[in-house]
Amino acid sequence: MKQVVVLGAGYAGLKTVHELQKKADGSFKITLVNKNSYHYEATDLHEVAAGTEPKEKITYDVADIVDPKVTTFIQDEVVAFDPAAKTVDLKNHDQLSYDYLVVALGFISETFGIKGAEENALPMTTVDEAEAIHAHLLKVMDEYKQNPDPDALNIIIAGAGFTGIELAGALADGRKEYAEHAGVNPSDIKISMLDAGTRLLPMFSDELAEYGVNLVKSLGVDIITDARVQEVAPGKTIYVFGKDEEQTPHELTAKTIIWTTGVSGSPLVDAAGLKARRGRVIPTEHLTDADHDDLYIIGDVAAVMPPDGQRPYPTTAQIALAMGKYTAADLANVLKTGSHLSEGFVYKSLGTVASVGNTRAFGVAMGRETKGYLASATKKMIANESLYRIGGLKEVFKKGRFDLYH
Ligand SMILES: Cc1cc2nc3c(=O)[nH]c(=O)nc-3n(C[C@H](O)[C@H](O)[C@H](O)COP(=O)(O)OP(=O)(O)OC[C@H]3O[C@@H](n4cnc5c(N)ncnc54)[C@H](O)[C@@H]3O)c2cc1C
Repeated sequence: MKQVVVLGAGYAGLKTVHELQKKADGSFKITLVNKNSYHYEATDLHEVAAGTEPKEKITYDVADIVDPKVTTFIQDEVVAFDPAAKTVDLKNHDQLSYDYLVVALGFISETFGIKGAEENALPMTTVDEAEAIHAHLLKVMDEYKQNPDPDALNIIIAGAGFTGIELAGALADGRKEYAEHAGVNPSDIKISMLDAGTRLLPMFSDELAEYGVNLVKSLGVDIITDARVQEVAPGKTIYVFGKDEEQTPHELTAKTIIWTTGVSGSPLVDAAGLKARRGRVIPTEHLTDADHDDLYIIGDVAAVMPPDGQRPYPTTAQIALAMGKYTAADLANVLKTGSHLSEGFVYKSLGTVASVGNTRAFGVAMGRETKGYLASATKKMIANESLYRIGGLKEVFKKGRFDLYH
């Protein structure tokens, strides 16, 4: 009996398990390891952080997907894996051995070594971190009533990329709740964004990116571009304009500083000695590691190069799901015949849509630019599609996803 071990129950890992289980023929067993008992939709973390959606709306039990006849689910933290010894070390369980390993450990917050960012800014890469942001916001707003320090009403988002822009939109929606806690008007809550770039949202055309930026600004969000964060100190962000480190530093103060400048792949990938850059490996066409044919590396820990591209595809939930599906098909073939599929992994994006709060969005879907309410509905359809692809209709209904506007 061959042992397949899957690390991580995010989009990539859970999709692999879901598909591979369907091909079970008694010749292999799957072991899935994940930190939490639940899968979370990382694409909606900003909503939990802003308090516009509860945790329950973006999570579902891994057990709902696991078929116990084929798969053993271990809730634990992976502390290391060794591609040479073909073993996985867990925090609270015995070491696992594998014949085939699927590494789908996802992303972590990347601070690029910026002084104080790790200590003084809030990351938003897990459900716990997103909930901590919301709890922190309510705490500082409540404190404002006792001690009206204006910085309690200031929120800084460091990084105005896709994630930062989505977060700004959700926070703008959430202002009403924070204002109630602080006893002020929603317009008294000031949201500012800092970004080193001058042209934001490079994944979109000039016109669409400008539309998105103006949409966020129209909600009263201040976006400061060409601003490089040099340091995050308690309650303040220090930045300079342009690339010149010698420029006079500027300061922005706030009791809430949220870090969304970027993500990297799981640090366990570098620690395992794979040829990786910032936790990401360029896999083979079969999504395996170039030096280990029995090790698949998928989702945010993979940097997949397009056939004619210079830069890897952006890491998204959409490509993670596609990789999970391909991995299950390829691995089933390897288990059955000893050979990879004749076709390598091919990716076709459905598009990218950024939400700006609950009812507005912009982006590209099915090759066409889309804006406003229609774009927002499209985004929710894409999210439904993701949920459906892993969890099936049951999960979609359970989450009330067809009820598009909450
Ligand atoms: C706010 C936000 C908005 C986004 N919006 C979009 C969008 O609109 N569209 C889109 O396509 N993409 C979007 N993304 C990107 C998308 O969420 C990621 O690309 C996607 O989650 C990657 O999937 P994954 O399966 O590789 O990893 P993850 O979703 O990160 O899953 C990894 C899993 O591994 C587990 N894990 C990690 N380390 C360990 C360990 N040591 N031991 C055990 N378990 C571990 C984690 O708990 C998690 O369950 C967004 C991301 C964010 C943060």
